[in-house]
Amino acid sequence: MKPLPFTSEANLSSNALKEIDMIVSSHVKPLLNIIEALQTSVNNLSKENSELRGEITKLNKYVNLTKAEEFTKSTDPEELDAKISYSNITKKNSQKTLIVKPKDDKQRSSKTKFDVMNNINPLTDINIGKVRTLRDGGILLKCENSSNFNQIAKDKLAEKYEVREVKSACPKIRISGIPNYIDDKDFLPYLRKQNEFLFDQKSVCNLLKFCPTKKNNSIFQALLEVDLSTYKRAISVGHCLVGLNGCTIYDAVDVTRCFNCNAFGHSSKFCKNSPSCPKCGNNHNLNECKEETVDFKCVNCNNLNIKNKNQNIDVEHAAWDYSKCHAHDLVLSKVKKDLFGLSA
Ligand SMILES: [Zn+2]
Ligand SMILES: [Zn+2]
Ligand SMILES: [Zn+2]
Repeated sequence: MKPLPFTSEANLSSNALKEIDMIVSSHVKPLLNIIEALQTSVNNLSKENSELRGEITKLNKYVNLTKAEEFTKSTDPEELDAKISYSNITKKNSQKTLIVKPKDDKQRSSKTKFDVMNNINPLTDINIGKVRTLRDGGILLKCENSSNFNQIAKDKLAEKYEVREVKSACPKIRISGIPNYIDDKDFLPYLRKQNEFLFDQKSVCNLLKFCPTKKNNSIFQALLEVDLSTYKRAISVGHCLVGLNGCTIYDAVDVTRCFNCNAFGHSSKFCKNSPSCPKCGNNHNLNECKEETVDFKCVNCNNLNIKNKNQNIDVEHAAWDYSKCHAHDLVLSKVKKDLFGLSA
């Protein structure tokens, strides 16, 4: 480009003005066009960039979820995995527990997680506290704003998923040694009145079962569902007074064991596994176990030994014998930790 002559406006001849016009239209305008085009590309690129960032965040989420799932699988025997049946799940404090279940029953939980995470912002939409995989390709979410989630589910997930809230469950205790002159209607008023330090007016106490003990049918026992702080108090004290009897308080939190495959966390009604024998550990149901003097072999503890090669857990007990079963202990403490935040 020719340098412009240094001159004041007043002195510009009409020729010079024409020359300037020509220079502007032949050199500056194309430059301006180029700059504009560059600006547009920069804008487009930065838009693309932020979209890619979004994708990367989503993918990272997915990778982390998958990793977490793999981790659970690699540390636990297959069926002792965190695959807790719906009935064992509770809500904690103000949190709600939701189940998201794919309508396609062949879909895996990792895909369900991916879809859910893609459609919500876990921080602002529902504040998810916890995500777990379930047996049927579903996932379980603990979250604080479930009505928000229900809306999102209706808007974005309804086509492929069912979403429902899970009813709460509370820890359970068993009280044994109740005298037979107290019946199931009198029991709770007696319990509260005589043990105010344990079961005060704020305590949630639901009587689930009231029946004679196995050893003595004139002595009764009660199964109670209580709130977490009552549970902790009751378990740490361990006894209470009912009528004139000192009664023992037992921890009654337990996990379901499947009658078909003996795994914990689901019932035989929902079992898709092949049968195993709770007595000898072979591939048949208990009623098909022919050998009279069979050696006990716990299929759950045996699975633990197979999964974690160096462990040498005792397997010579029936799968129902929880006093000897390490696999049951592990699952139970996991359930207590997950549901009630209790560590063993
Ligand atoms: Zn089963
Ligand atoms: Zn058998
Ligand atoms: Zn065992």
